[in-house]
Amino acid sequence: MAVREILHFGNPALRATCSAIDEERPDQGIMKDLQDTLTHLQRMEGLGRGLAAPQIGHQVRAVYINAPAWEGFLLNPHVVNRSDETFEIMDGCFSAALSFFGPVKRHRWVEVCYRDATMKPCQEAFRGDMSELIQHEMDHLNGILFIDRLTDPSRIMTRGEWEKRCRVDRR
Ligand SMILES: [Zn+2]
Repeated sequence: MAVREILHFGNPALRATCSAIDEERPDQGIMKDLQDTLTHLQRMEGLGRGLAAPQIGHQVRAVYINAPAWEGFLLNPHVVNRSDETFEIMDGCFSAALSFFGPVKRHRWVEVCYRDATMKPCQEAFRGDMSELIQHEMDHLNGILFIDRLTDPSRIMTRGEWEKRCRVDRR
């Protein structure tokens, strides 16, 4: 078990563009760290569905998702198709300590090519709140944070307010 420390907003490492995972020799340690850390955070916070490698200090293109609808790794993911239609959602981030939430716009669906944990090439479409999650995590690989995509900063709210007004229980 290797639960890693989460890097927080303000740490310049979160702004780096991550490099590709070596598909011939994937680093199993990074995958284990992502899995252990997300599992730990979910247990502590009762919240959160995904984690990107740069959030635990590995600047590589790896994302781990543990959501009711989907569980697994997206390695070297890239978007191959996406809806023109967008929707707005209240977003938050472990790297903001889940302390505040704000409105962002995301594509209604995205189709993504990636390698899974066994390095098998995969292609899959994600819709609705899964689409939002995948876009959020993939942004981390390019040093983009949800605060860069706020549609209206005046609607930022604390976790307490968000839980009262907006929380949709996805677990
Ligand atoms: Zn995040």
